[in-house]
Amino acid sequence: MAPIKHHLSDSLLMAYSAGTLAEAFNLVIATHISMCDECRARMESFDTVGGALLEGCDTASLDAGSLEATLAMISGAPVERARPAAPSRAGIFHAPLRDYVGGDLDSVRWKKLGGGVSQYLLDTSRDATVRLLHIPSGTTVPDHGHRGMELTLVLKGAFIDGKERFARGDVEIANEDLHHTPIADVGEDCICLAATDARLKFTNLIPRMAQPFIGM
Ligand code: ZN
Ligand code: ZN
Repeated sequence: MAPIKHHLSDSLLMAYSAGTLAEAFNLVIATHISMCDECRARMESFDTVGGALLEGCDTASLDAGSLEATLAMISGAPVERARPAAPSRAGIFHAPLRDYVGGDLDSVRWKKLGGGVSQYLLDTSRDATVRLLHIPSGTTVPDHGHRGMELTLVLKGAFIDGKERFARGDVEIANEDLHHTPIADVGEDCICLAATDARLKFTNLIPRMAQPFIGM
């Protein structure tokens, strides 16, 4: 595997470590970490800092979310967060993604979205959505903007977005400021894992009309 070029931000790793993100984002982050030694090391340092802060913390100064997390820790109950697995070299999907799908790429029951693109929605809490996308080589994803955050992790093939190329292991972080038209690179179909917490803003009428049916 070529070295990963596009990584998670510190703020995302910190939020993941603190357990404040939606399950859908946790899955993308845990899957990236299972493929990326650099982000795993950064996440572990945030885990250490977070643990030290909690030990020296007066509970009255914590907000409701972290109080809940602290109480869960004290009671020994796990805070809901997909854990990255040790890196494995076999297959396309690493754990925890493999557990969500119930197998590797050949277990995915794809549903057609139109324009050659297929998706498979994964079962997570409803505050955000995560899906696998299959984009045939050379195919363009309809031009769109974002109302919230979109995290896209490449699992197979590559896509081009503007001047940047995202290949296996790379993660793209998009927010309200980014309007884009990603294209699957030629040579191989692109499979990615994409999480969003709000509907996309499609520029053209046809994808916009299809949105209620495809859940994007
Ligand atoms: Zn990384
Ligand atoms: Zn996007």
